[in-house]
Amino acid sequence: MTLTNKDILKEALDNYSITPKKSLGQNFVIDKNVIKKICDCADLSKEDQVLEIGPGTGALTLSLAEKVTHVTAIEKDRRLMPLLLDLTKETKNISVVHSDILDFSIPFKKYKVIANLPYYVTSPIIKKFLEEYFPPEMLVLTVQREVAERIIAKPPKMSLLSVSVQFYADAKIISHISKNSFWPPPSIESSIIKITPKKNSFDKAFKEDFFRILRKGFSHPRKQILTNFQLDREKKSGVDFTKREIICNLIKKSNVDARKRPESLNIDQWKSLTKNLSKII
Ligand code: SAM
Repeated sequence: MTLTNKDILKEALDNYSITPKKSLGQNFVIDKNVIKKICDCADLSKEDQVLEIGPGTGALTLSLAEKVTHVTAIEKDRRLMPLLLDLTKETKNISVVHSDILDFSIPFKKYKVIANLPYYVTSPIIKKFLEEYFPPEMLVLTVQREVAERIIAKPPKMSLLSVSVQFYADAKIISHISKNSFWPPPSIESSIIKITPKKNSFDKAFKEDFFRILRKGFSHPRKQILTNFQLDREKKSGVDFTKREIICNLIKKSNVDARKRPESLNIDQWKSLTKNLSKII
């Protein structure tokens, strides 16, 4: 039985004495069309190994299991375990694990991540999977609409989040979802986003340099990048004009206008800044 009917869902939660917890982002999907859209865009087949984050009341979990070889569903809320185990006991290709996804070691090399994400922890979860030694083939996630739009942003609307995700992956919004597709309804709209990791050949040292330069470049998003790269030095020891000129020249060498704000730079420009500035910043 799939709990996509609001009244049946409420009754099932009552039977297990569960009240949805806001702090765990518990808005359960009650719209079969949303489940279908998620499954369709994940392009699922019987070859697929799926990791689901936060199965909740299992509506998405059961649909996924019909289409793939195996679903591993990681749920943080212990209260949901009896309900989930009862719902999935007849379905041999679902394993429900009680764990925080951020503490869970991924046992697969080839897998897809699918989730209606708990919104309070969206960024750390995306970061975890994109930085994995074996990242997933794709992530199909329901996130806050505003976060989805920030992830796929282009210059001049880049942020630390969009550059970080786009460094590792291609991302696109598949569909927007109304609040009424969930119970209890969240206060904001959601979107389904598909994130496909790129085959990156950058070594660990380059990645560390890239994210150090990026954080520094975005330390004050509304300031010019030259100012951001210069800031600590000025605070410590007054303006060092020689260093300022060196930084300015290296920024120029990276094909970047030093007066631009970080929001207006693209990924290639950040890579170029990393190559040219990482020895001195
Ligand atoms: N997948 C279900 C659905 O679509 O109806 C539930 C989605 S609900 C938005 C988020 C789920 O993630 C909840 O079941 C919540 O308990 C669980 N959750 C919250 N934080 C988690 C974490 N850190 N690790 C694993 N699950 C988590």
